[in-house]
Amino acid sequence: TKHNGRNGYHFFQPSMNALAQTQLQLMNDLWQAEARNELRLLYQPKFQAPSGPAIGFEALLRWQHPQRGLLTPDVFLPLAEKTGVIVSIGNWVLNEACRQLSEWRDAGHTDWSMSVNLSAVQFEQPALIDNVVDCLSRHRIPPEMLILEVTETTAMSDPDESVRLLTELTTLGVKASIDDFGTGYSSLLYLKRLPASELKIDRAFVNELRADGEDATIVSAIIALARTLNLRVVAEGVETPEQQTFLTELGCHTLQGYLLGKPLDPHAIANIVKNEPQR
Ligand code: C2E
Ligand code: CA
Ligand code: CA
Ligand code: CA
Repeated sequence: TKHNGRNGYHFFQPSMNALAQTQLQLMNDLWQAEARNELRLLYQPKFQAPSGPAIGFEALLRWQHPQRGLLTPDVFLPLAEKTGVIVSIGNWVLNEACRQLSEWRDAGHTDWSMSVNLSAVQFEQPALIDNVVDCLSRHRIPPEMLILEVTETTAMSDPDESVRLLTELTTLGVKASIDDFGTGYSSLLYLKRLPASELKIDRAFVNELRADGEDATIVSAIIALARTLNLRVVAEGVETPEQQTFLTELGCHTLQGYLLGKPLDPHAIANIVKNEPQR
């Protein structure tokens, strides 16, 4: 067997194709990444529409691989989920994001929220609630400043369980956000029962947005639905001033995207804040 327990795959057979070998090597490296201090978080700002101040940040994971350079989640996240290493990586993310937020809070940015992405595997972990509680108290974060993002697909894969889990989380005061909305298949009945406070319209719809296009109809339907359910609406992937204006007109509360702010490391954010005129 090629399997050597959960900690690695050690036999690289000559018959194995190059892609499979690369994947196995990456899998081995991934188990070490946290201990070797190779994980990083970038933070992308969220802005009040149409052109208000930053109201919070979303933590986005990167892996500084010793040979392959800075890797984005699409390269390693599927692997991390398949092998389960996402559970410990996810905890690292949660803790590091809370640590960073508390540093910002100490510097006076007490109105900034922190959004953290949860993977499906993490969402199913019974220890999730305890980990969240621990992080909040360790870093003295008011629960309502932490937003946990779960994709629509994850939330709808076991809707009853999602309602239960999100209810437990929101009872703590933490906020829940339904990410990548519009790409999954939501039952309206469950959407109504989910104790989320925010809905993020998937980038795919924002991308193609033109006033006369089909996506405009979908986006305005999503916004109308969200408003009916008392959810705040975030549009992600805003890249043009036209999208910014149009999404605001359609009723989005919050905008996120390269036009307004790219994912940045904390040093870059500190420099921007320092050089900004005082509001
Ligand atoms: P997401 O949660 O939908 O995050 C938004 C992604 O879109 C990010 O990609 C971000 O860099 C990118 N983005 C933001 N604004 C724009 C824009 O204007 N245009 C374009 N083209 N892209 C934009 P990233 O950082 O590569 O992350 C990809 C996905 O990986 C995330 O999608 C999320 O599902 C997942 N992910 C990232 N960090 C974590 C994490 O810490 N834990 C878990 N479980 N998943 C994560
Ligand atoms: Ca997200
Ligand atoms: Ca998203
Ligand atoms: Ca996405």
